[in-house]
Amino acid sequence: MEEEITNRCEWCEADEIRSKRLCGVCYRLSRQLIQVQGWDLMEEALPTFLNWFRRPNFDDYSRLKDASVKAIEGLINNRKYLGISMRNEELSGIDLEHLIRNVFSRIRGADKKKIEAEYFHTADFFDRRFSLEQKVDLYRFLKRVFYSIPMPSLTVLIIEAYYEF
Ligand SMILES: [Zn+2]
Repeated sequence: MEEEITNRCEWCEADEIRSKRLCGVCYRLSRQLIQVQGWDLMEEALPTFLNWFRRPNFDDYSRLKDASVKAIEGLINNRKYLGISMRNEELSGIDLEHLIRNVFSRIRGADKKKIEAEYFHTADFFDRRFSLEQKVDLYRFLKRVFYSIPMPSLTVLIIEAYYEF
């Protein structure tokens, strides 16, 4: 069977392919995940994107590795989820609700708990008021908004994950 030729990212459906069928952001995340998973915990071999943690009294590399894997996988799953929703022809209010929360969470300084509370159960609102076609249009628009917001700093996400362990 011939493979369908697409110029969309296999994970997140972004329009630009960088390498291995992934967009620039997803490709970089995939490389970082491989790097950190293969890291032997030796300081000399610290992946370059973790250079921030190279400091005198820092020695819990095992925890740093787990936190990094968790943070990167979280970002990857988020992007894959967006891709799945974009391909889903049964797009529903819950997809819009998730995307809106993602958009606001990604705006720097946004209070995640407040966002959760404000947009909780907006899925019903979308399902009641909009047709499928309208929801798809709205979703595509919001997705473009989402991708125009800069990525959260991976370092910040790793630090958060580090202190959760
Ligand atoms: Zn992508």
